[in-house]
Amino acid sequence: MPSWVTWRQRPFPDANLLLLHGRRPALVDSGFVGHAEETADWAEAHTHAGRIDLVVNTHWHSDHVGGNALLQARGAAVAAGAPEAEAVSRRDPGCCSAEYLDQPVAPYTVDMALDDGQVLRLGDADWEVVRTPGHTPGHLALWQPDERLLVVGDALSDYDVGWVNLALDGPGMAVTALDSLRRMADLAPRVVLPSHGPIPADPASAFAAALRRGQRLVDDPDGAVWYGARRVFAFALMIREGIPADEVEPYLHARAWLTDAARLLGRTPEELAAELVETMLRGGSIVLRDGRVHAAAEHTPVAARSLRVPFPREWPAAVSTD
Ligand SMILES: [Zn+2]
Repeated sequence: MPSWVTWRQRPFPDANLLLLHGRRPALVDSGFVGHAEETADWAEAHTHAGRIDLVVNTHWHSDHVGGNALLQARGAAVAAGAPEAEAVSRRDPGCCSAEYLDQPVAPYTVDMALDDGQVLRLGDADWEVVRTPGHTPGHLALWQPDERLLVVGDALSDYDVGWVNLALDGPGMAVTALDSLRRMADLAPRVVLPSHGPIPADPASAFAAALRRGQRLVDDPDGAVWYGARRVFAFALMIREGIPADEVEPYLHARAWLTDAARLLGRTPEELAAELVETMLRGGSIVLRDGRVHAAAEHTPVAARSLRVPFPREWPAAVSTD
């Protein structure tokens, strides 16, 4: 990896961090709101200038944009894909899918809307914006052609592909995600930088696996819905340090994402909630411990008070800097 790149792998509920050094110190994604201070302190401590000029979001999920507000308060600008930038600016209640997924995000604004093909100076290098809709409709990748580095966000990781939200984004979104994977694979990157998990040792085989997995999401829409439900539920458990066992199913029944998933799967929300808990307990991805249901995967603790931020429908109006 070039010396002007600092990569930091982080467990859930934070996306990995990518720091790009130079005259315009930039950070790609900013972690979960509960760890915003740690993220901002780390980023500033690792730049020569002691500051971040620009935060670029691969997409607006809570584990990628949670440090935006704090970094912005400390002087950074925020850049995001055009559709998400516009929705954040007009305070669309669907912003970040925060309320839909029940994942808190501190209110932030977007200073720069990014379009496909746009060239962006990060650190001292030029990066190209590559629109890669799928995991979210506004998802983007970042391509550095000289070093052949590709930042892929949640589109793929060393072990998986990003889940797609067929209820919210439409049944065609799995095909869209697969097209985005093909587009990224065609760039033939030397290094793939995913938002979760390690840097794949072999980019070509990581893409081959991701394309197979992406094709399965196309061929098996029910499987894709189940996959998304498992990921969203596990994340909910991680940011709450588990949920008391007797509150898990009522919690699930009240969730918009679960109701939508149940409709797509031809079940009632109650049936899906029970089946989700049962199959995940059996599969070992969630565990019962001390009367609470926890996510089994490694994750960093979150302070409960840090979850108390308003959903986007209650965010203060974005102040225009134009
Ligand atoms: Zn995501």
